[in-house]
Amino acid sequence: MTARILVVEDNAVNLKLIRDVLNFLGYQVTVAHSGEEGVELARTGGPDLVLMDLQLPGIDGTEALRQLRTDPKIRHVPVVAVTASAMKHDREQATRDGFDGYLGKPLDIAALPDQIRSFLARGGGHVG
Ligand code: MN
Repeated sequence: MTARILVVEDNAVNLKLIRDVLNFLGYQVTVAHSGEEGVELARTGGPDLVLMDLQLPGIDGTEALRQLRTDPKIRHVPVVAVTASAMKHDREQATRDGFDGYLGKPLDIAALPDQIRSFLARGGGHVG
């Protein structure tokens, strides 16, 4: 079974890049363009992993994470923060906020396959 990844990202260029890469790697990708849409699609779609942009229109990625964690059906799904802010402080803040991992933008495409496998493994599910 193919792992399903939900990508929440409001920037069309970033979204296309990550979707194309994940599709190439064989993952089933769903996209959301806002935090609200991301929460809704996570609830209805049951992804294996969520990649969450932090800066979003409407609710931000941290608030979207908080809402996901209140839902018993999906609270175990790993959620990874994605942000252009690469400061150590921000990485630590994302961890404190409860994210399962952190990806800096621009994404390191060469490193992404291993990173995605690692994040999926945190959910205890299949990694292929
Ligand atoms: Mn954004």
